[in-house]
Amino acid sequence: HDIISKLYARAYIHGNPIRPTKTAYAVVDTLQRHAPAITKPEMTRTLENDMLKIAEQKITKGEVIEESRQMLEAVFDELLAHRKEIEDSLREGLRVDRIVGRCSLCGSDLIIRRGRRGARFVGCSGYPECRFTLPLPRGGMIVVTERRCETHGMNHIRIINRGKRPWDLGCPYCNFNNWQAKKGSETRRMPELGDIPGIGPKSRERLENGGIKTLDALVSTDPASIAESTGISIKKIIAWQKSARSIISGGEQGGEVPGSSTC
Ligand SMILES: [Zn+2]
Ligand SMILES: [Zn+2]
Repeated sequence: HDIISKLYARAYIHGNPIRPTKTAYAVVDTLQRHAPAITKPEMTRTLENDMLKIAEQKITKGEVIEESRQMLEAVFDELLAHRKEIEDSLREGLRVDRIVGRCSLCGSDLIIRRGRRGARFVGCSGYPECRFTLPLPRGGMIVVTERRCETHGMNHIRIINRGKRPWDLGCPYCNFNNWQAKKGSETRRMPELGDIPGIGPKSRERLENGGIKTLDALVSTDPASIAESTGISIKKIIAWQKSARSIISGGEQGGEVPGSSTC
């Protein structure tokens, strides 16, 4: 039980039934390549047999300690000799585990990031050129699952809190849209341009100066003509239109609120 909870806590496994994370594969692959001795059962087996031999007084404690010291030294030598390769491949495994999908604005990887005040969010690896973000709840361990949203191509997110049932947040984009729609209907406020991820005050001003003042205007105007009147790239406008449509249509379904206590 202790070993299994440790594996969960260190994000080597997730889910039920248990599945290894990318980090787990990275650790095993890396060690097999660069320090194979500690991935094999021989070392443990030898030492356990030695314990028996000590009990039977066939060898001394001192001999076993000396033997295990030599084994460990050999393992450390192996690890230290490949320090750089081990570091790189573990870093890559951790990075891959944080990828949620592809950015609809610029095509870079979207990854789980942590802000200065500890708030977590989905951010674009094209930052600072691309400022696409989606919010994530504050508490719990975030696991990127293999399930993928058909609309946004993003992996579903699961939040794990100790002692609680895991909360399947689903696609972070759908979750955000549902939350916006819910917030909008609670305050009887129509969703507006600023609700679209990626539209900050500056883009909003440019859109408004170009005659696009509402979500409806955004979705019903030809992207090429918006691009011309605002100087914003057509790719961005098409992505915004897509978000605007899902915000507008998301109004009918209730959704989870990021960070809500319903988990
Ligand atoms: Zn981006
Ligand atoms: Zn989605």
